[in-house]
Amino acid sequence: MAHSGTLFIISSPSGAGKSSLIKALLERHNSDNNLQVSVSHTTRAMRPGEVDGEHYHFVDQAEFKALIDSKAFYEWAQVFDNYYGTSRRWIEQLLAQGIDVLLDIDWQGARQIRAQSPGAKSIFILPPSREELERRLNARQQDSAEVIQGRMAKAVSEMSHYDEYDYLLVNDDFEHALGQLNAIIHAERANTAKQAVRYQGLLSRLLAE
Ligand code: 5GP
Repeated sequence: MAHSGTLFIISSPSGAGKSSLIKALLERHNSDNNLQVSVSHTTRAMRPGEVDGEHYHFVDQAEFKALIDSKAFYEWAQVFDNYYGTSRRWIEQLLAQGIDVLLDIDWQGARQIRAQSPGAKSIFILPPSREELERRLNARQQDSAEVIQGRMAKAVSEMSHYDEYDYLLVNDDFEHALGQLNAIIHAERANTAKQAVRYQGLLSRLLAE
């Protein structure tokens, strides 16, 4: 029997540096081939530089609703003005092969995953300060003060759910936060129940009378 992979949920307000951390984490795990990030479906418009099937599967509302009806989603949520969902089949296939899967989803999705998969581990990433968050939200585009304020309010609303997560990281020093994220993944891989499956043969030899 192959051991099963772990689901790692990663949430943060936008502007906390989550995407860069996930990208760097995947690069670190490139060679072990044991960590993948789930590509969600979304109804939001594609941003410049995004690639369909790589950053998201971009679909319209009708397609998204059809996927909900066919129970294709592990979880789905309306995040502000758009719908986002995690496809069930692909993730289940990866987990069955012993591959760990990262889910970059919001707090609503995190709740749904926890309810279905109690073994999932969840991590919340905070920005180092309110000023820095404001600066990062500002730096993205040249928007009106009203738009920026709206983004800030969304970030605060997302952050208010931090205490529902197993781990809380502050992305002050990027390398430090990356190291912590990596440590969480390695610690989970050393979980006794998982190691017992992975090292079944070794254990039976070691424990032979
Ligand atoms: P963005 O539109 O900036 O890519 O993402 C906006 C928010 O939606 C982020 O907080 C992201 O984590 C969340 N999100 C992305 N994909 C999913 C998903 O499949 N399910 C849920 N619940 N949230 C998602």
